[in-house]
Amino acid sequence: MNGTPVHAAGRLDGSPSILAARPSLYRAVRISAAISRDAALADWRQDRKLILSAAAAFIAMLVAAGCATHWQLGRLARARLEIAKAKAIMDRALASMADGFLLCDAQDCVVAWNARYLEMFPWLRSVIGVGVSFESVVDSTARTLVPDASDASDVAKRQAWREMRLAQHRSGHGMFEQELEDGSVIHVIERRTPDGGMVSVMRDITLAERELARAKAAAEASNHAKSQFLAAMSHEIRTPLNGVLGMNSLLLKTELTDEQRSYARTIRSSGKALLTLINDILDLSRVEAGRLELVTAEFDPRRLVEEVAASVATRAREKGLGFSVHFQGGVPAVLHGDEGRLRQVLFNLIGNAVKFTERGSVSVDVACRMLEDDRVELEASVRDTGIGIAAGALATLFERFKQADSSIVRRYGGSGLGLAISRGLVDLMGGRIDVETEVGVGSTFRVTLALQRGHSTQLIVADTHHDAASDMAEGLRILVAEDNEVNQLVISAMLAQLGHSCEVACDGLEAIAKLTASTYDLVLMDIHMPNLDGIAAARRIRALDTGAARIPIIALTANAMVEDREAYIEAGMDDHVAKPVEVKEVGRAIARVLALKRSC
Ligand code: ADP
Repeated sequence: MNGTPVHAAGRLDGSPSILAARPSLYRAVRISAAISRDAALADWRQDRKLILSAAAAFIAMLVAAGCATHWQLGRLARARLEIAKAKAIMDRALASMADGFLLCDAQDCVVAWNARYLEMFPWLRSVIGVGVSFESVVDSTARTLVPDASDASDVAKRQAWREMRLAQHRSGHGMFEQELEDGSVIHVIERRTPDGGMVSVMRDITLAERELARAKAAAEASNHAKSQFLAAMSHEIRTPLNGVLGMNSLLLKTELTDEQRSYARTIRSSGKALLTLINDILDLSRVEAGRLELVTAEFDPRRLVEEVAASVATRAREKGLGFSVHFQGGVPAVLHGDEGRLRQVLFNLIGNAVKFTERGSVSVDVACRMLEDDRVELEASVRDTGIGIAAGALATLFERFKQADSSIVRRYGGSGLGLAISRGLVDLMGGRIDVETEVGVGSTFRVTLALQRGHSTQLIVADTHHDAASDMAEGLRILVAEDNEVNQLVISAMLAQLGHSCEVACDGLEAIAKLTASTYDLVLMDIHMPNLDGIAAARRIRALDTGAARIPIIALTANAMVEDREAYIEAGMDDHVAKPVEVKEVGRAIARVLALKRSC
């Protein structure tokens, strides 16, 4: 009766109920209330169901989220592992590279580098790091390359290097060499990556460079030695050859039986062939060593071709061949170039055409095409109806000692040097030489050359000089400085033939003594002589304080290299004649220098 609810059976239907009772103000009245238990718990049951289903849904969601997270984390871990593996592979690859490597992103900040990079640029160890700007890397290198910036020029130098390096980097396709302060040379290649970054690969080429420089020096030294050897050999061979040919030409002027004359002529032609071979070998070695220098001057292209043609035409006529030279309109009267070397090429091509043609004809065609800047393209074609050249031999035709086949030497002779020299000379002149040929039908060799036009008046003046000079040179008193007895005899006899008298000095000292004691009109000076050589003697003569200091001096040279010629001129000599000397050549040289001296 205190109001506490109790479970009891319902009075009406006996169903489980909850009831409570308590007294009222009136003792006789008690208040009791009851409710069936089901009715009392109905709401609570409804709420509990709701709460339970919400909790179940929540738990299910949590479990699902947990699973998803677990799966994601697993995926992430696997991806991280993959990335770590790939990075390790990449790091190993970069570390084992012999080249330095640097990768920057699109903002020009460092992303990756390798150990070799830091070996090459050790000062960057304290600077490099992911995210460091490329500019700081360049700054650090600039400070190392120009460490002392105490004066303005050093600051400018450092700044200039920095700007240059950044400009190279920004160009995005750099390939350049960087010299470091220790003398090492780094070859750098930089390329943009598709995302705008920059990958740089550096290779230390110091060793390769040094190796190359050493190899180049060794090759040059051996080439030099080869040229020296050839020059020396040519000198050694030419000196006795001078004696043989000179004596032979004197012999041919004496009374001989027909048989003796024919022997003497054979000696002459064999000697000349030997001389040609020596000259060819010397020329080729100079071309190959890059030591052949062109001597350019104005010349008349028509006269040049006609002279070469005339020297070969006799042989063509003897063989019963047709021989013609044709100039197309527009060939200038004067061109500027190395006439002597062009003559050599044409002589070889026209000579070959006649040599390798048994019947039919040889024709020479010269044409010119105007180019810009007063230049013309000269084209000389030499066409023959000769034996032709097999296609298989064409590839090596212009190589030295190459002949189309082994029967050539037997049938036609030759050394296989002519075309190699011609190609070398034409290359040197900046032109080209090519051939069209068919076996049994014939060949056409074509030389194409760009040359500067010249001024005709000068040539005509030179010619007049030449002709006038030839008339003035007779009855001279000539001093010959020559140590070789045979050559003394040869030259004396030649000078006698030209109508001059001569005296011989055995070396430079004796020549100077004779010059100071007596008066001469001209000196023929050998170069290699004991006691005082020709060059030193010429210098001393030019330094004399008597009239003899101005005497014309012609060098008699066994080796005729351009650099030698320059040395003779530099020593004060006026001209030179190459041994073996020929009467005509000596006569011309004497006339030339006398004309020159008189015109001065
Ligand atoms: P050489 O004439 O002394 O043998 P070259 O170098 O002048 O040397 O020529 C090389 C070779 O090219 C010759 O031996 C010959 O086989 C071939 N040749 C050159 N010119 C002609 C030509 N006009 N016709 C046929 N063959 C030629």
